[in-house]
Amino acid sequence: MPRVLIAEDETAIADAVLYALRSEGIEAEHCLLAREVVPRVRAGGVDVVVLDVGLPDASGFDVCRELRGFSEVPVIFLTARNDEIDRVLGLELGADDYVTKPFSPRELVARVRARLRRAHAAPKAETGAWLERGAFAVDRDGHRIRFRDQLLDLTRYEYALLDALLQRPGAILSRTQLMDRGWDSDADSADRTVDTHVKTLRAKLRAAGADPDPIRTHRGLGYAIEA
Ligand code: CA
Repeated sequence: MPRVLIAEDETAIADAVLYALRSEGIEAEHCLLAREVVPRVRAGGVDVVVLDVGLPDASGFDVCRELRGFSEVPVIFLTARNDEIDRVLGLELGADDYVTKPFSPRELVARVRARLRRAHAAPKAETGAWLERGAFAVDRDGHRIRFRDQLLDLTRYEYALLDALLQRPGAILSRTQLMDRGWDSDADSADRTVDTHVKTLRAKLRAAGADPDPIRTHRGLGYAIEA
């Protein structure tokens, strides 16, 4: 049975989440402090971590960074403020998803399930093959993309977007399609989230010498790439 660790100092929120997860057949345990998270994950058996950004003894961001030093366990942030969301989106913290407070426990359970599904997805096929796409090359096993032989330093979201666009050069993909490929979120935040990542992706491509911008915006439709 999958097991979720929730780090949250507001016990009412934690209790609602614990109840929702357990009633769906997911084992869940709770801790109140940031410093409890890393030892618990190191001890093993945790499949997903739900991490409040505002913990009393340290920020969830610091905890996530420490986790990423030794573990790929999926992390879902609970955020309370817009500036926290911007940090989740803007920095490569290694978070897999976030949920904004107030949220419905059911929504969080759906996100947890999505993470569990992805973690147990079919094993990857070919190894280390670089697929050429014009000036780009994609290593889907390594989640890496090169542009004119330079390895791009991409966040996982930027990688997912660029990979989706490069699979069908010239095709216009809607924000919803791009969202489906990259991560799970509700429709309301999808447009803004995709736009945010496209913006940072464009900046990185520009820095790698991509001129003109290979990503085309199609107003009201979505994005396409000229590879
Ligand atoms: Ca808190």
